[in-house]
Amino acid sequence: MDSKIIEIKGLEKKYNSKFSLSVDGLYLKSNKILTIIGPNGSGKSTLIRLLNLLEKPDRGVISFEGENILGERVDKFAIRKKMAVVFQEPLLFNTSVYSNIIMGLSFRKIPLIEVNERLQYFTEKLKIGDILGRSIKNLSGGEKQRVSLARALILDPKLLLLDEPLANIDQQSRESLRSDLLEVLKKYGKSIIYVTHDRNEAMVLADYIAVMNEGRIEQFAPKEEVFRRPANEFIAKFVGVETLIEGLVVRNSENVAEVEVSGGKGKDKQIIYVVSEATKKNKVTLAIRPEDVILYSMDIPPRKSSAMNLFQGKINSIRNIGMFKKIEIDCGFNLISFVTQNSIERLGLDAGKTITAGIKASSIHML
Ligand code: ADP
Ligand code: MG
Repeated sequence: MDSKIIEIKGLEKKYNSKFSLSVDGLYLKSNKILTIIGPNGSGKSTLIRLLNLLEKPDRGVISFEGENILGERVDKFAIRKKMAVVFQEPLLFNTSVYSNIIMGLSFRKIPLIEVNERLQYFTEKLKIGDILGRSIKNLSGGEKQRVSLARALILDPKLLLLDEPLANIDQQSRESLRSDLLEVLKKYGKSIIYVTHDRNEAMVLADYIAVMNEGRIEQFAPKEEVFRRPANEFIAKFVGVETLIEGLVVRNSENVAEVEVSGGKGKDKQIIYVVSEATKKNKVTLAIRPEDVILYSMDIPPRKSSAMNLFQGKINSIRNIGMFKKIEIDCGFNLISFVTQNSIERLGLDAGKTITAGIKASSIHML
């Protein structure tokens, strides 16, 4: 099914002179996952509250299954019953885990027998099957959030809204909850809007990504496109582009642009080849993802061509960043590469050493 379950047009909400939300166009196709990413204060929660009819916009249209749900005659309660929301802070009652999980059913007139299978499935997947009799009081933050996730999921809502469900969980329980939750949601197969400020969650989960900044959607596109072809520098940085280089297009031949960039203090300018239609005299910014920078040992130099850029540079620093090491190379411009410990040993990389870095002309994005 390719229909849109949600479609927003010209939605505006002004709180004060400092912040206003303005979303021209955004939609979610049925049974897809839209991830909204953006920094704190960009308006993500405001958008979720508007979608969930917890707040009234100043103007605009939100269509849900084809019906404008902001209309005067719309039964807001009936609409809200088709959605389920999970917030940053779990909203639970001071009873047992089980009572909390089934809390939403009677309000929605869903018979318990109908949810038995789902209840079993989600409590098991969220690893709370064994604590159904426990009191909410004695649960950790992570366990509480597992309960509110199960409560939302057993309702089988037409639209599931999740507003940074992992943001307020302590670091230790967050990792395990993240992997359990992402697995559940990926298998779920229903319409989801998932808000996060963590690009890795978006990377794992999303079909589509909307990037919010200062109350606006700066890019709305399939996940791959946002990561590979960010629309501006803000988004590029947000989705993990580490190297941004300013340059000038000096030639274009068969859709390969030659971009002149700095060669460093007192050195000649150098050329970077980029697959692009950009024409001569255009000032551009080149965006390079750290995992696209390949490092070579000097003994086996690869062949330079218009398809493969090669730069020599001195390693400024090597830093630990979890699974990878972040290497900063001075190639006249600052180039960042992520490599494994294994590659560091194989190539004998060390601060101060000169190496060759390769970047395919097709993996550089031009802003
Ligand atoms: P995010 O979820 O992306 O962190 P929010 O939607 O919570 O952002 O907030 C966006 C902006 O709107 C912030 O500047 C916040 O202070 C402001 N804001 C949110 N809710 C209200 C409100 N009820 N009244 C006034 N300002 C608000
Ligand atoms: Mg928020």
